[in-house]
Amino acid sequence: MKLAILSESPADEAALRVLVEYVLGSPFDLAAPALRARGWPSVEQVLPFVLRHLHFQTDAERLVVVVDSDDSPVHTGEHEAPGYHHPLCRICRLRAVFRRTLKNLPPAGGRRRVLRAVGLAVPAIEAWYLCGRDTSVTESAWMDGQRSGRPPYTRRELKWRVYGTDRPSLPFEIERAVQEVTRHRGDVRRLENDFPNGFGALGRDLRLADPAH
Ligand SMILES: [Zn+2]
Repeated sequence: MKLAILSESPADEAALRVLVEYVLGSPFDLAAPALRARGWPSVEQVLPFVLRHLHFQTDAERLVVVVDSDDSPVHTGEHEAPGYHHPLCRICRLRAVFRRTLKNLPPAGGRRRVLRAVGLAVPAIEAWYLCGRDTSVTESAWMDGQRSGRPPYTRRELKWRVYGTDRPSLPFEIERAVQEVTRHRGDVRRLENDFPNGFGALGRDLRLADPAH
């Protein structure tokens, strides 16, 4: 399996390489190294170019894209209804970019199109790093906070809990990210349980031979 990963930072990419392998249950080859954008909305803006590049210039079979939700709405089961599109949901928006970009591309490199695997870290990827270690950090806790207007934690607090600072150096960020996600080796059920929407969507895409765009 040849995959590409589009993420917000080298630390995110390091963590995603580990997590994607755990979901797939086997190692994979990275078809295009270091595809990066600096946060939202830059990921959405570069995605069409990245997809065309992968389609025509590489043998990537699938592109993994993960972004932080920040304060945007969380993608839920309701968004999965056929034809539904939430204009502010980042998963719905990224899926729409996949659809629009790939719709009219001719087959290339022996495949019809680059497959999709889109995930959403709610509210930031540090929440995934704390999964199983800090039980107060879950998607439902965050979504309850969105409804009530009282967030259970801030993104800055999550960084403090993971790194002991909100401004970690890149090497330390990578080290901590990999340390924490490695706890899920061989079993990502806790992540799928505590983050059923954003991590769940990534896992479901990765397991589908051909997620409907
Ligand atoms: Zn959505």
